[in-house]
Amino acid sequence: MTTICGQGADEFMRMLEEFHGYRAPGVLIGGFMVDLALERRSGGGFFEVLCETRVCLPDAVQLLTPCTFGNGWLKLADVGRYALALFDKKSGAGIRVHVDTKKLAPYPGIREWFFKAKPKIEQDTDRLVREILDAGKSILTATSVQVAPEFLGPRKKGATSPCPSCGEGYPVENGDRCLACQGKKLYV
Ligand SMILES: [Zn+2]
Repeated sequence: MTTICGQGADEFMRMLEEFHGYRAPGVLIGGFMVDLALERRSGGGFFEVLCETRVCLPDAVQLLTPCTFGNGWLKLADVGRYALALFDKKSGAGIRVHVDTKKLAPYPGIREWFFKAKPKIEQDTDRLVREILDAGKSILTATSVQVAPEFLGPRKKGATSPCPSCGEGYPVENGDRCLACQGKKLYV
């Protein structure tokens, strides 16, 4: 039976549908990516995750590991590659897993979806999900990496003070008023 981090694939798909809103192929592949990274890592210390895209993949990490954006253990470097690195939070040594485009040939549906060759409306999601489950970890490549120092250590949190214009707390390093009061349009 196909498993993802110890759960049946069906169970994982149910979880991801609930969490993500729909049966996203990217989150399903992400599940296999997290599974492979956990399998390859050495040592059992605390780890964090660096995610190289903001699309879909972070939800697989947040579903399957204790790392979330909220707690700061999931970090984003949005270079747009479908890849993540699971690393020791002290040493920065880790395992990077990416979707290996050289391994996609046997899976035309995944290839098409990955390179967005077809409009979403024409996408056959059932076939795509079947291909992803068939492929499992075979379309992934894992390599050892050393994460750059800027991603190590606790999140830096500077001083906060009330904004003289709106009165809400804001990070002082942003200037004499909060960014919203400096003109950044959030609402129209
Ligand atoms: Zn303000």
